[in-house]
Amino acid sequence: MKIAVLTSGGDSAGMNAVVRSVVKASILKGCEAWIVREGYEGLVRGNKEGETKDLYPPEDKSQSGTLHNLRFGDAELLKDGTGDSFAIGGRTLKGRYIIRVGWDDVRGWFSQGGTLIGTARSKTFRTQEGRLCAAYNLIKEGIDALVVCGGDGSLTGADVFRSEWPELVKTLREQNKITDEQVQEHTHLRIVGLVGSIDNDMSMTDLTIGAPTALHRICESIDNISSTAFSHSRAFVLEVMGRHCGWLALQAGVSCGADFIFIPERPPTGDSWEDEMCAAVHRHREIGKRTTIVIVAEGAHDKTLQPIKPDYVKDVLTERLGLDTRVTTLGHTQRGGRPCAFDRILPTLQGMQAVDALLEATPSTPSYMIGIQENKITRIPLVEAVVMTKAVSDAIKERNFEKAMSLRDPEFRESLEGFLTTSVFDSEPRLPVEKRMRVGLVHMGAPAGGMNAAIRAAVRYCVRQGHTPLAILNGFKGLLDDNVTELSWLKVDSWMTRGGSELGTNRTLPSSDLGAVASKFQEHNIQALLIVGGFEGFQALLDLAEGRKYYPAFHIPMVHLPATISNNVPATEYSLGSDTSLNALVDACDAIKQSASASRDRVFVVETQGGKCGYLATMGALATGACLVYTPEQGISLDMLRRDVKYLKTRYALDDKGKSEGRLVIRNEAASSVYTTEVITRMFKEEGGALFDSRFASLGHTLQGGIPSPMDRTRAVRLSLKCMSFLEQHHEKLRKQAGKAKQAEPESASVITIQSNLVAMVPVSEMVLQADMVNRRAKKAWWEDIKNLVEDISGRSQIVAFH
Ligand code: ATP
Repeated sequence: MKIAVLTSGGDSAGMNAVVRSVVKASILKGCEAWIVREGYEGLVRGNKEGETKDLYPPEDKSQSGTLHNLRFGDAELLKDGTGDSFAIGGRTLKGRYIIRVGWDDVRGWFSQGGTLIGTARSKTFRTQEGRLCAAYNLIKEGIDALVVCGGDGSLTGADVFRSEWPELVKTLREQNKITDEQVQEHTHLRIVGLVGSIDNDMSMTDLTIGAPTALHRICESIDNISSTAFSHSRAFVLEVMGRHCGWLALQAGVSCGADFIFIPERPPTGDSWEDEMCAAVHRHREIGKRTTIVIVAEGAHDKTLQPIKPDYVKDVLTERLGLDTRVTTLGHTQRGGRPCAFDRILPTLQGMQAVDALLEATPSTPSYMIGIQENKITRIPLVEAVVMTKAVSDAIKERNFEKAMSLRDPEFRESLEGFLTTSVFDSEPRLPVEKRMRVGLVHMGAPAGGMNAAIRAAVRYCVRQGHTPLAILNGFKGLLDDNVTELSWLKVDSWMTRGGSELGTNRTLPSSDLGAVASKFQEHNIQALLIVGGFEGFQALLDLAEGRKYYPAFHIPMVHLPATISNNVPATEYSLGSDTSLNALVDACDAIKQSASASRDRVFVVETQGGKCGYLATMGALATGACLVYTPEQGISLDMLRRDVKYLKTRYALDDKGKSEGRLVIRNEAASSVYTTEVITRMFKEEGGALFDSRFASLGHTLQGGIPSPMDRTRAVRLSLKCMSFLEQHHEKLRKQAGKAKQAEPESASVITIQSNLVAMVPVSEMVLQADMVNRRAKKAWWEDIKNLVEDISGRSQIVAFH
């Protein structure tokens, strides 16, 4: 099969990773990989006549579709056309928009923002005449499968193109432009859509490619603005992108603890949004807040659809509340820059899935859009997603905001609830006195990004409901020392952006003195417990749940929210902090790779934390484009190293002279006690000879990250609020039990987990069955296959096998 990939509509970070992934996956599956420049416009323009002749030397053709051919095409064979030129893999192509590419043509694309193959908004493709040209140009090159990466407009275009295809082929035959044989070969066009859009405006997928990076850019700006706002006690009104979708404004509001947000799907409901906003800001100022942040989505409007503009919001804040207010429009800074870790991993996995979907497509299967739900890559019929997306904007136009919200995915709705719960101060508690509880809040294990955000959300939930939030400082050791204090709404205000652990954390388990812990629970009248932490958090919950046999004080609802950069808690695919850590790793490795590439021929062996769990090393390798990864689960053997040395030697020998690049190898700290990072580095250096040199770097504690990533902050809020509502439900059940000696159900001691596309509470007694307690990790790692993927993408297995 010949598979072409194009990027269309507005650009977004991660589009280059899509192209890289589709090109590599196509070649790995034995297909030819092609790119189309400038979106649909490139399809319409095609290749100038005379430029379509055979570009590939015969010996390359015999290997076509294999990785043996690292690069295709030859500038010598190309005539100077009059069209504009395009440089790829050291060649300059003229008058060509549909170009076959090889493995190395997409080298180094991973970490670059925007799209290197260009994008456009093509008016011609909107016409049937334009699409006829596009069909002709594809058939001329023999291409029958297309991956389109763009927003809802681009995917609508893809759907129109596919449904019209038989008619277009018929017309081309009638016009004698194609032969009967070509008609036979191209009866059906296979199309798959990948959503590249910074707005996250596509329905039926949790995230679009580029949206996480845009959120990073916004949060960086707001974090910077917050400090100056605090110094001057100022208000800031920020406009962020999102014409029809408030996702960026909403998530930025949650991540940065904004005071008020305006999003198209849910305008303020009262008669005057000005009154509503001023009342909220005034309440916050009254309890002592020095900063005010209001976020306005580009497409924000009131309930009558009158636009809400930042300058007017500023005037309202200045005139009615007397606040010194400034407006900042973030504009195109939101689109650009290096993709964050997620915008490298997601497009890589989705690009692979897109090629699989194309290979499996038949005339009777629908065209798919590749999406993601929680942690699961999904295939969704493209038409359904496009129709649903359009339904949201129709509902907004009809002012049916309830419907608009109901059509957004559950995460969007939960985030709005999360924003309202954690950012807006209500002076009147919601629950009657008898339903209120005293909630212990504790951190366990090593610090991880998002731990403080989780506690902040829990405290604010408590204040809203009327519960008492009790911070247990310095873990269970602190509890034994009576280090317990009540937190307030304002006290936790700035915790969203803080890394580390504000409560203090250590590894002391309750089992160190279970009886004393029980007596402290009684003394402080702790009626519910939230533990935020890593494997120790899970062990602590296990201790307490088992302690219920002996101590009535533990017959309370208890929940563990996993937070650890190692992501080694069983049964959950995600822990808070792991995204922050991956981003820290990506930042460090981009810099290391640059240095390694500057020396042309250097292999850097980078050591990561992670204990006996290889998650961080493996996902880090995927996110940084490392060529090899060593994990504790698989260990390191001499045979493995021999193969890896062979791969590196072959790979460097295949590089064009003087154009070798730096390469990364990632090794988890506990992958082997014999083949240490230093030993491997020396081995590579010795074996590399004149071909390559080797150095090592240890990332150590830098991986715990500084400021938590937006994803860790928003997930902290969402999961923490789910934990709080879980505690409330079980507290209510216990309250209703007759008699004095309450008996908590086993399910009332649970861990909140993300499993594939679900968020689930798993009783700690069940979790233990999935845990490898000796190695402190899950018995089965969901990400294990990713190691093979990393090595496939680097071409290790194929290169070693072929040569
Ligand atoms: P963004 O989210 O950045 O706006 P988008 O993909 O929605 O991205 P659009 O400008 O709506 O951007 O669409 C990109 C291109 O897709 C258009 O310029 C056009 O070539 C094609 N396209 C969009 N809608 C259609 C359609 N109904 N029929 C044919 N082609 C279309």
